[in-house]
Amino acid sequence: MTFLEPLSFDIVIIGGGAAGFFAAINAAEMAPEAKICILERGKDVLNKVRISGGGRCNVTHAEFLPKELTRNYPRGEKELRGPFHSFMTGDTIEWFEKRGVPLKIEEDGRMFPESNSSETIIDLFLQESKRLKIELLTKRAVQGLQQKNDHWEISTSQENFVAKKVMIATGSNPKMWNLLQDLGHSIVPGVPSLFTFNISDKRIKDLPGVATNAVVKLKRTKLGTSGPLLITHWGMSGPAILKLSAWGARELSDKKNFEIEVNWLPEISSEEVEAELLRLKKENAKQFPHKYAQFELPKRLWQSLLNASGIDAEIRWADLNKQQLEELQQQLTGGSFQVHGKSTFKEEFVTAGGVELKEVNFKTFESKVCKNLFLAGEVLNIDAITGGFNFQNAWTGGYLAAQAMTAL
Ligand SMILES: Cc1cc2nc3c(=O)[nH]c(=O)nc-3n(C[C@H](O)[C@H](O)[C@H](O)COP(=O)(O)OP(=O)(O)OC[C@H]3O[C@@H](n4cnc5c(N)ncnc54)[C@H](O)[C@@H]3O)c2cc1C
Repeated sequence: MTFLEPLSFDIVIIGGGAAGFFAAINAAEMAPEAKICILERGKDVLNKVRISGGGRCNVTHAEFLPKELTRNYPRGEKELRGPFHSFMTGDTIEWFEKRGVPLKIEEDGRMFPESNSSETIIDLFLQESKRLKIELLTKRAVQGLQQKNDHWEISTSQENFVAKKVMIATGSNPKMWNLLQDLGHSIVPGVPSLFTFNISDKRIKDLPGVATNAVVKLKRTKLGTSGPLLITHWGMSGPAILKLSAWGARELSDKKNFEIEVNWLPEISSEEVEAELLRLKKENAKQFPHKYAQFELPKRLWQSLLNASGIDAEIRWADLNKQQLEELQQQLTGGSFQVHGKSTFKEEFVTAGGVELKEVNFKTFESKVCKNLFLAGEVLNIDAITGGFNFQNAWTGGYLAAQAMTAL
C-alpha cells in the first residue's frame, strides 16, 4: 500500500474566479520564487468572467475617488474605504493596460475591455498564469481545510495539499461558507441581489422600452434610489430598480410581493408640479393634455399617466377638475406599484452575504479568526450595485491579499 504525499505549496488559492486569478498573478509577480497553485472545483475556470456584462465583462467603473466608489457597495462600504486607497479604479486600468488590455469608458461610467469581449480578460489571466508558472488544477473541489502548526492541510476531491498560506476566493459558495464556519467564522446567510421587479400594471403594460429618470422608493422602509428606470415586458428594470434591489436585498429576500412608489419627475418638487399643472390648465385651456407630453416625459408614459388619472383623450386642459389634477400630480410624483416577484438581471448578478466583515483585517484581507488564511471577492459579505463594482472588489481584495501573502 502506498500513501501519496500531499503536494506542497507556499500559497494555495482556492477558487479559479476573478479574485483567485488576480491574487495568484500578483502574488507570483511579487514573489517569483513562491510556489503558487489555484484549485478550482469546476472543469473550467473564470466562468463568471466569461458571462459577465453580457459577455463583454464590465471590469470596473470610472469613479476615481475612494469614498465615492465605496458608496456603490450596500455591504462593504465602510470596510472598502481603506483598501481603495491602496488599489482601486486607476490601478485596475493601469494593471490591464500594462499587460496589453486597454479598457474603455462608456457614457454611464462602466468600463469594458476595448475588445468588447470577456475572452480578452480570460486569455490574459491564463497567459499570465502560464508565464508565471502558477499551477492551475481544475476538478479539485476543496472538501476540507485544517490548520496544523505552521501550515494548512487542504483536502480535495483528488489529492491533498499543504500550504503555508491559503486564500479563499470561492465566491458565494455555501459549502465553503460551511467550512469557514467550522473554522470559527461567522457567516451572514446568502440572499440574491441585483434583480428586476415583476409588475403587472395597466400604466406600464404597453410601454416596454420606455426609459426615463425616476426616484423609486420601497414603501414602508427608508430605502429609495434614483436613476434611469426602464419599463420592460415584465415590469421595471434599469439602474434605479437594480440599485433598489441591491440596497433592499436583505429586506426583500423573503418577500415576493411588495410595493414601490415611483416619482417620474425627480428634478422638481411636488409643489412645483402642482403649480405647473395649474398654469397649463390656465394657459393651454383649449388644448388636449394628451396631445403634447409635459415635463419632458416620454409621450406614451405621459398619456398613460393621464389615463390613470381619469383624463381621456377628448378632455381639454380647461375641463380638468380638481380631483383629476390632484390625481395626475400624484401619478407623476408618487404612484404606487405592486411588485409580484423578482427576475434575475442577466447582465450581472451577485449574492449578498458571506464572511462577517468584522472578522477580516482589511489592510491584508487576512482572517482575524485564522492566521495565514486570506479571503477576497464574493466569499466576503461584500456586494455592489451593477456597473463593474463587484469585479473591482475582487481585484482590490485579490491584490492586497497577494501583497500580504508575499510579504516577508
Ligand atoms: C451573469 C453575471 C454577470 C456578471 N457581470 C459582472 C460585470 O460585468 N461586472 C462586475 O463587476 N461583476 C459582474 N458580476 C459579478 C462578478 O462576476 C462576481 O462578483 C465576481 O465573479 C466574484 O468573484 P469571485 O472570485 O469572488 O468569485 P467567482 O468569480 O464566483 O469565482 C469563484 C470560483 O471558486 C470556485 N469554487 C467554489 N467552491 C470551490 C471549492 N470548494 N473548491 C474549489 N473551487 C471552488 C468556483 O467554481 C468559481 O470558479 C456578474 C455575475 C454574474 C452571475
